[in-house]
Amino acid sequence: MVFDLHAHSHYSDGILSPQALMSRAKLHGVETIALTDHDTVAGCTEAASAAAECGMRFIPGIEFSTQWGKQGVHVVGLGVDCTSPILLEAVAAQQHARVERNLAIALKLERQGVVEPLARAQKIAGVALIGRPHFAQVLVNDGRVKDIATAFKKFLGAGKSCDVRYSWPEISDIIQVIAAVGGVSVLAHPAKYNLTRTKMRALIAAFADCGGRALEVINGRQEASLTTELVKFAAQHDLYSSCGSDFHKPDCPWQELGNFASLPDNARPVWSLFDA
Ligand code: AMP
Ligand code: MN
Ligand code: MN
Ligand code: MN
Repeated sequence: MVFDLHAHSHYSDGILSPQALMSRAKLHGVETIALTDHDTVAGCTEAASAAAECGMRFIPGIEFSTQWGKQGVHVVGLGVDCTSPILLEAVAAQQHARVERNLAIALKLERQGVVEPLARAQKIAGVALIGRPHFAQVLVNDGRVKDIATAFKKFLGAGKSCDVRYSWPEISDIIQVIAAVGGVSVLAHPAKYNLTRTKMRALIAAFADCGGRALEVINGRQEASLTTELVKFAAQHDLYSSCGSDFHKPDCPWQELGNFASLPDNARPVWSLFDA
């Protein structure tokens, strides 16, 4: 069974509609797919019917932006009840935080001489709430940077001139919300926060202490040695293991739907919780 439990649609910073995303997942051999847009479940109803038409199992999900001390951390909620008022209230709070943050980022970009960053980013974002990748695209369109990665490196990444810190709720609060709406919380891509191994282990420990259930031990294409290490950390903290592509757009083979290694045999798969 091929499980891809981390993917984005155009309701956040992905570029495909939920329907197009589900068709692509099917083409890539995925059998169970979760939609995990940043801070929204807006695409889940469309994705659920599209997945059913393709004969795939669908898991409604979300990728919450949270704060662990000064560190921004992403927590994926899998199997959440998208109609729950508790979830909808949490999502509304995230969206409010994003609106405030986007105003602050736009102000900083204007100070750098960028013209109408907010309106232009919204045009790029379409139905989505603006996120940093949309601002990054504005900088690319202006020819200020050659690509999105450079926009993050020079302007929008953590600690850079146009980044805004401390916008998100505490990781523990989000873990509670996910549990309250019947979901399983997954610490997303632990190796992508540029933490030292000591700090990464502290994060995993804190996540488990707060009631987190699973560690995303595979996020797209990655070194097998990293997977081995993360499965070991998961076991040490009694966490299940999750895997996903973190797909955003075509033409990124390292983040392509279903295109990653299988979970090692010694990992406890997070889907054993869904089937229980
Ligand atoms: P936001 O949710 O607004 O904080 O934007 C974060 C998103 O930006 C992530 O989910 C990634 O999709 C994307 N991102 C973060 N860092 C980079 C980077 N260095 N290069 C390209 N995209 C990035
Ligand atoms: Mn993203
Ligand atoms: Mn993420
Ligand atoms: Mn993601």
